[in-house]
Amino acid sequence: MKLTSIASGSSGNCIYVGSDEANILVDAGISGKKIENGLKELSVEPKSLDGILVTHEHIDHVAGLGVMARRYHLPLYMTEKTAQAVCNIKSVGKIDHELFQVITPDRPFRIRDITIDATSIWHDAADPVCYTMESGGVRASIATDMGNYHEGIVEKLKGSDILFIEANHDINMLQVGPYPYYLKRRILSNRGHLSNERSGQLLCDIMTENTREVFLGHLSKDNNYSELAYETVKISLLENGMVPEEFHMQVAKRDMVSGLAVV
Ligand SMILES: [Zn+2]
Ligand SMILES: [Zn+2]
Repeated sequence: MKLTSIASGSSGNCIYVGSDEANILVDAGISGKKIENGLKELSVEPKSLDGILVTHEHIDHVAGLGVMARRYHLPLYMTEKTAQAVCNIKSVGKIDHELFQVITPDRPFRIRDITIDATSIWHDAADPVCYTMESGGVRASIATDMGNYHEGIVEKLKGSDILFIEANHDINMLQVGPYPYYLKRRILSNRGHLSNERSGQLLCDIMTENTREVFLGHLSKDNNYSELAYETVKISLLENGMVPEEFHMQVAKRDMVSGLAVV
């Protein structure tokens, strides 16, 4: 399997996942043009896309969804409540109802040779999920936008070959930073975003000797920076006995294509 992000962070998220037979996107939170440019860089024809998985309806995950769906007639996979919420966002525009493929957490479905399983996560959205995808014995998991994690998530993500996990903020930077009090509380809550520290703990709970590639993504522009996220998570992994030589870790880039993980 192949995986990388085309954009990652509060200004827009879009992840590309490829298998032998399928090309899919997880979220489309940047403009259609930017998605097309990213795919071009990856030598993936937008016409060859098989669909878009949507995690939740926040604009940084759906800004380009309408454009991509209309332009390439792409099936859009999401839970029913997320679909309703997406339909209520004016800027996404009209999407043909037949393109919506309603999914249910914990009920795996297939797109060509990829088996996909959604898991409910804690976030301030209608019905947010994370995704685990498996093809040819390789498993890739994507989990961003969650205030905290539960045992169900650990169970699903554990032992994935490729992991894309949120490392949103440094708690200190957030606390002393310029955000208004209500927003700080929202981000720090169980339905907000994962801190670097918590992201490191999650990785300690789910990484096994199978894990080859780790992405840290959805970094806050104001309350985090790449080196800090990377070092904080790395310390946590080292403290828990992970051997850095056994996996490759990178911070997903905010507005360009990151390194392609191939397992
Ligand atoms: Zn987000
Ligand atoms: Zn969100």
